[in-house]
Amino acid sequence: MRLLSLAAFTAAFATAGSAMATTTALPFDPDVATREWLATMDPEAVARSNSYFEGGYWIQFVGPLIGFIIAFAFLQTGFAKHLRAWLEKRVKIYFFVVIAFALVYTLIGSVLSFGWDYWVGFVREHDYELSTQTFAQWFTEYLQGAGIGLLIGSLAIGLLYLIIAVAKKTWWIWGTGFAIAFVAVIGMLAPVFISPIFNDYNPMPQSPLRESVLQIAQANGVPANDLMVYDRSRQTNSISANVSGFGETTRISLADTLLQRESPGGVRAVLGHEIGHYVLQHTVSLLIMNTLLIVVAFGLANFLFNLLSKDERWGIRSIADPAGMPLFFSVLGFIFLLATPISNNIIRFHELQADMFGLNAAREPDGFAESAILLSEYRKMEPTPFEEWFFYDHPSGYARIHMAMTWKAHHMALGDIPMGPGGPPDGWRPDFVTGVPDPRAVGYTPPGEEAATPPAEQPAATTTETPATTTEPSPAAPSN
Ligand SMILES: [Zn+2]
Repeated sequence: MRLLSLAAFTAAFATAGSAMATTTALPFDPDVATREWLATMDPEAVARSNSYFEGGYWIQFVGPLIGFIIAFAFLQTGFAKHLRAWLEKRVKIYFFVVIAFALVYTLIGSVLSFGWDYWVGFVREHDYELSTQTFAQWFTEYLQGAGIGLLIGSLAIGLLYLIIAVAKKTWWIWGTGFAIAFVAVIGMLAPVFISPIFNDYNPMPQSPLRESVLQIAQANGVPANDLMVYDRSRQTNSISANVSGFGETTRISLADTLLQRESPGGVRAVLGHEIGHYVLQHTVSLLIMNTLLIVVAFGLANFLFNLLSKDERWGIRSIADPAGMPLFFSVLGFIFLLATPISNNIIRFHELQADMFGLNAAREPDGFAESAILLSEYRKMEPTPFEEWFFYDHPSGYARIHMAMTWKAHHMALGDIPMGPGGPPDGWRPDFVTGVPDPRAVGYTPPGEEAATPPAEQPAATTTETPATTTEPSPAAPSN
């Protein structure tokens, strides 16, 4: 009986499926349209994009490796235990011994790995024409970042060691609670106290584009009356936008480079995505998922630390001993390195949600595809499935364009957006291919706006929306 009804259900489902397939005739093939968008990049642009992103695969492992070598030197030469003994004699209070140890350890580590940081953060960024900074500008920000990191980091380490010393064997449970609370507090303070050190944040000037973005935000229940624009061009040409802060300080910011380089539809598509992060409360769900990751990592670190420091190896008395800090952070760093695909998948899970939310909220599939192309400057467009699963914390450019073209095809079929070509507007090229300083000059009208005429024929319609925000050099010409 049960089997029979299951068979009937399957048959009904199969018929429904085939009936559906006949109703989903699309005005264009999303696969072909995706190819057409990808073809706007010339082979050099594709090669540059692939090489930049693939280089990042190695970079994320070499950095920690340098840290492990420094930590091993600290332990093996006896410097760690001598430093702890020296500090204990002078400082006496445990909390301050830990903080002083953390300061010395981090400072020496930073000096020893500076060459690597300089190559990754400055030389390589210039090789790929992404940076807009002189060495002096970069180095100033490097020092500011390191200083803030040192201050916040050693405070966090001091408090974590206090928990370890008090809670002993169960520290990893209490430590997780502390780590999450600390991240939330820093997240809340960052937009107010940290971000303004590196960039100027100003309300987006009045424009039809600003109005349209605020409409989208408010339509989705975001109580925003303002959007912040930050001068990302101070550091790089690449486009970006983000949701930062936590709780009360949560806000959406967009880069000036985004306004300079993208069509209004592109800007709306990106902000639709950010509004998605906001509405779906991703800061909270990320925190919850990361709690699970951290509790496992802390538990494993506890186990590995005790195993490696058995019988007071390297003079380490217990996990609460500051002399074991290089070992503690190496073990923890190693675990998080192995967890790279897990944390990437956690983030990508949220990014996919925000993408779909953004498409539905902003209804700018072409703007969405445009953004995916411009993001190729720092993200490879077509990875293998393994690469995407392991290394990507956002969907790949291909996945994003395909998602947008599928959305567009089905909504054209639905009749709630005007019919038009599947791929990019005629003649559209990303600015890094044509060398045209302002891609809006090529221009297109996003679907839904003045829809009767073919988009490429009315560049003027888009240029009127251009907010005159910044005076930074064009992406094709970095300042140095
Ligand atoms: Zn996102």
